[in-house]
Amino acid sequence: AQSARESMFILNEYARDYFVKILFEHPEGRSIGLSYFRERGFRDDIIHKFQLGYSLEQRDALSQEAQKAGYQKDFLLKTGLSTGGENGGALFDRFRGRVIFPVHTLSGKVVAFGGRILKKVPNTGKYVNSPESEIYSKSNELYGIYFAKSAIMKADKCFLVEGYTDVISMHQAGLENVVASSGTALTHGQIRKIRRFSENITVLYDGDTAGIKAAMRGIDLLLEEGMNVKVVLLPEGEDPDSFAKKQNADDFNRYIASHETDFIRFKTQLLLAEAGDDPIKRAGLITNIVESIALIPDAITRSVYIQDCSQLMELRENVLIAEVNKVRLRNY
Ligand code: ATP
Ligand code: MN
Ligand code: MN
Ligand code: MN
Repeated sequence: AQSARESMFILNEYARDYFVKILFEHPEGRSIGLSYFRERGFRDDIIHKFQLGYSLEQRDALSQEAQKAGYQKDFLLKTGLSTGGENGGALFDRFRGRVIFPVHTLSGKVVAFGGRILKKVPNTGKYVNSPESEIYSKSNELYGIYFAKSAIMKADKCFLVEGYTDVISMHQAGLENVVASSGTALTHGQIRKIRRFSENITVLYDGDTAGIKAAMRGIDLLLEEGMNVKVVLLPEGEDPDSFAKKQNADDFNRYIASHETDFIRFKTQLLLAEAGDDPIKRAGLITNIVESIALIPDAITRSVYIQDCSQLMELRENVLIAEVNKVRLRNY
């Protein structure tokens, strides 16, 4: 007999196929969903590759169709595709009037969905995601990993972005070694998934305050996991998707290649700009960077970064070594 988990994956595949079919064949899907993707500049081959779809505005379209096809209420609720159903009542669709992004596991199984509203609606989240379930733990999945893994291995490098559309636009620009943390804080489980394919990671978060803050947090976790971390800072207000759309693929690629900086330089520049000439703030900045360096497990890598840092901050290396060792003695 099938396990509950297997049944949930089978239902998700059914729903994925259903959303794809609606996008391309239903008048509402074509006129609203497909036009939306095309207006955003997504090519049809990319829409197909990522199995993008559309959920109808009707409140129970998928729930009805799936039950007619023989799928049980129980699994519609367990996967979170449907809500309601209390005391034998009717089921309603979680995703309605949204474009759909299926989330794949490392091996390509559909584990969850993200759905984006098309128009701005006050007090409504832009994205709705599948709830946590027996098969889906949001903090363990990485959007795009299935489509990226061979490219990550080949390039021996992975780009980390924030969102679904960033992954898709980078693929379209020819950069296929890219995954998204999907707007949540990066976790050790996600980093270990990437590290199976490469230890080199370049963080490419949105060029806004939230993105920079998230990048700073992510960097420390990545260092702790022994990853080699670089950062690309995008122009203010841009994310990889919006920025890729403003130019051709070659220019986008060139920007990334020429703006990739070491995490130390990234942190120093940003924090120096904040601290200015204030000596107390500068001291705080040194502490911040020392704490990051202290996280690096490998002693040789640590000493390379200490050298870099001593040059950038015009500080004697011995002072930095002593400070890093102090933090390590305290923490480990
Ligand atoms: P778009 O380009 O379609 O506007 P985005 O990816 O640029 O989307 P961001 O606001 O930058 O959107 O958010 C980054 C990611 O965070 C999204 O791709 C999505 O995975 C997740 N996210 C954003 N808003 C929400 C939300 N309200 N609920 C759940 N996840 C969200
Ligand atoms: Mn953002
Ligand atoms: Mn964004
Ligand atoms: Mn965006």
